[in-house]
Amino acid sequence: MNETTYTPGPWEVDAFESAAIISDGATHSISAPANDSDRYLVAETYPLADAFPGAPDVVGDANARLIAAAPDLLAACRLAARSLHHPECPNDGRHCTCHVGAAIDAITKAGA
Ligand SMILES: [Zn+2]
Repeated sequence: MNETTYTPGPWEVDAFESAAIISDGATHSISAPANDSDRYLVAETYPLADAFPGAPDVVGDANARLIAAAPDLLAACRLAARSLHHPECPNDGRHCTCHVGAAIDAITKAGA
């Protein structure tokens, strides 16, 4: 499936903020441009320490960056899924153990 059913990218962390600080252990918004002045909210992340005392504050920051990269990662997976299999991959049509199978599995997991 190549049809885009998700909010088109690019997705950015804290684009609603005047000065984004992504490594501050705070709540973050992930959004995409809707037009020249508005943005669509895609997701929010929260400091993990709020739910799991003692968890490092950077986990929520890292989650926000990973979510924001999702459209780019999907595009990369689509390219990888169309590439040649690794020379050591059995690739018998059902069994793939290389990057091609991993890319296809990730695309399937994303429902994209
Ligand atoms: Zn393969």
